[in-house]
Amino acid sequence: MSVQNVNSFVAGQWVASDDNARAIYSAVTGEVIARAGNSALDVDAMLEYGRTVGGPALRAMTFHDRAKMLKALATHLNQHKQALYDISFATGATQKDHLIDIDGGVGTLFVFASKGRREMPDSHVYLDGEIEQLSRNGTFQGQHICTPLQGVAVHINAFNFPVWGMLEKLAPTLLAGVPAIVKPATATCYVTERCVQLLIDSGVLPDGALQLISGGVGNLLGRLTSQDVVSFTGSAHTAVSLRSNAHILENSIRFIAEQDSLNASMLGPDATVDSPEFDLFVKEITQEMTTKAGQKCTAIRRIFAPESQVDALIDALKARLASTVVGDPQAQSTTMGALVSNDQKRDVLEKATMLAVDAERVHGDPDNFSVAGADSDKGAFLPPMLFYCASPDTAKNVHDVEAFGPVSTVMPYRDVGHAIELLNRGQGSLVASVITHDADVAREVALGSGAFHGRLYFNNRDSMKESTGHGAPLPHMVHGGPGRAGGGEEMGGVRGAMHYMQRTAIQGSPEILSKISQRWVPGATEIEYKDHPFTRTFHQLELGETLKTDLRKISIDEIEQFAHFTGDTFYAHMDDAAAKRNPFFPGRVAHGYLLLSFAAGMFVQPDEGPVLANTGLDNLRFMKPVEPGDCIRVRLTVKQKTPRNEDYGEVRWDVRLTNQDDDVVAEYELLTMNAYEKS
Ligand code: NAP
Repeated sequence: MSVQNVNSFVAGQWVASDDNARAIYSAVTGEVIARAGNSALDVDAMLEYGRTVGGPALRAMTFHDRAKMLKALATHLNQHKQALYDISFATGATQKDHLIDIDGGVGTLFVFASKGRREMPDSHVYLDGEIEQLSRNGTFQGQHICTPLQGVAVHINAFNFPVWGMLEKLAPTLLAGVPAIVKPATATCYVTERCVQLLIDSGVLPDGALQLISGGVGNLLGRLTSQDVVSFTGSAHTAVSLRSNAHILENSIRFIAEQDSLNASMLGPDATVDSPEFDLFVKEITQEMTTKAGQKCTAIRRIFAPESQVDALIDALKARLASTVVGDPQAQSTTMGALVSNDQKRDVLEKATMLAVDAERVHGDPDNFSVAGADSDKGAFLPPMLFYCASPDTAKNVHDVEAFGPVSTVMPYRDVGHAIELLNRGQGSLVASVITHDADVAREVALGSGAFHGRLYFNNRDSMKESTGHGAPLPHMVHGGPGRAGGGEEMGGVRGAMHYMQRTAIQGSPEILSKISQRWVPGATEIEYKDHPFTRTFHQLELGETLKTDLRKISIDEIEQFAHFTGDTFYAHMDDAAAKRNPFFPGRVAHGYLLLSFAAGMFVQPDEGPVLANTGLDNLRFMKPVEPGDCIRVRLTVKQKTPRNEDYGEVRWDVRLTNQDDDVVAEYELLTMNAYEKS
């Protein structure tokens, strides 16, 4: 069998490994299948290329351009994923595991692409929060903005998800506008290399946006600056040694760490053997123990059950785990493949011995189990191993030792308070799950345990059909955790891109803030054209373009008519004495919705034209009551424009209703979809 030379991608060129390359073994046969590493890799050239070629090209694109790029990358990978499936079996993963790694990675790109288009502007500056009023007359205001860092993101990844592990970091990095240097774990880097080849071959990425180091990183970390970011995933031990690098500390280089985690799952006190929750709990645990042979950062390591349910739970878990078919990952009948390497297998066995100090093994004998279709002496196979610890309060290792394989420990708890105490003994974890149908239990755990976990996953009979699984980090939700989980946070939608951007507080006049943010700020220049803005296309409209209407008087007859027509005969509109008793009203007043309806009638241009639809209102506030006899005037200003597809874009209008004394009576943002071309 030929041994693959795993390349790096350096400054636009593929570079082969050299004589010092490390051997990589098949998880299934134990044979050397590849070599990776080049001790002469020019890390300075990589950094320079990323900073001077990749970074400027990405920063020239808008958030929407970059989101479209992510979508194109995802589509390309989707078309070529069979190539990734084919080589991933050698990592010990089954086809079901590939769906998490490969399809999950592609799905993550798609989600970031869509969030980038929907939640970020089609410009170069991301706005964080609303305008801060810093002066009495509004001539000096504040706004937080985020712009991409001008360095590179160094991604150091763990072995267990060679595709997803890269893509879940790459998506927010590229969306932010920052080039990446990816360093996958050597054990599975041949899969990442293939994925990088596909990404490069797609022709979608600008030069310098993505580089790859297969093997060691040399002095890369020592060459970083404060404009660079390190995003690390791996063991706590490696994380500590890298993040305490003097150069990283001295230069305040951002360091995000996702490290090992003693994740827990708790069966609620309400769940008894015959409840749907009990069954669900057993399913979730066996799934977490066997998927990827338990080599998942989020896998359940600690299982907490009410004392009265422990025996039944262990029996149910044993019965279910007994049907696990360990063996050749390519065989369809296999339900659990191999660990990534014999080194990893040895490590898990060592950790299992440490767990045995506190706990007894109740299922899975590593010296006596069957392996289907593969040689158990050569491949890195293990059975799922379940432990039981009767005294979780005094035990130490069960809360401290991560056996990164198909290993988990059942422990009893007395009451919810005790369960919370035990959940929190993981010293900070990525995820804890609670299987309960009792919302009060869920609330108690959320309050008592939230601070110790990056994610809390509640599941029960109501949500189980659509739930995504304890162990699945989702691109929409943050992934990370406090304490021993690394103190980091990844993904979480747009939040994930923030790790690669600088938040800057901008202070200045409305004019300055409008120009920088590409979002009109009240007080900045208003432009008035003869043409009604509703007759102008999306591209013709300019920020600050304003329509001011004449005054319109509101009569008592109109208020009554509106009340009877809509059925809204609330006393403040109908009964003068009752309205006067209310601290908000001087007497009968116009309905807020009447004002909105009149406003539409005052600013609308009725003919068929570029405005296609009114899609909503944001931030509606009624500020001052309007009494019969008062007048209103509307001012409509183009606040922001966001392309939505090939034909039309969203216009956000600042709408202000004032009365005859120029007091603001209502304000809101109106959203319309406007065509690019005149029909
Ligand atoms: P690891 O041994 O700590 O390695 C992690 C990464 O660090 C690998 O890419 C490794 O490269 C690299 N590395 C090691 N020493 C380095 C150095 N001096 N300079 C630069 N890079 C260096 O962890 P692993 O065995 O791959 O992964 C297993 C662990 O990761 C488990 O503990 C698991 O809990 C954790 N994990 C956490 C998450 C999470 O999201 N929190 C996800 C997955 C895994 P080489 O392979 O070339 O040594």
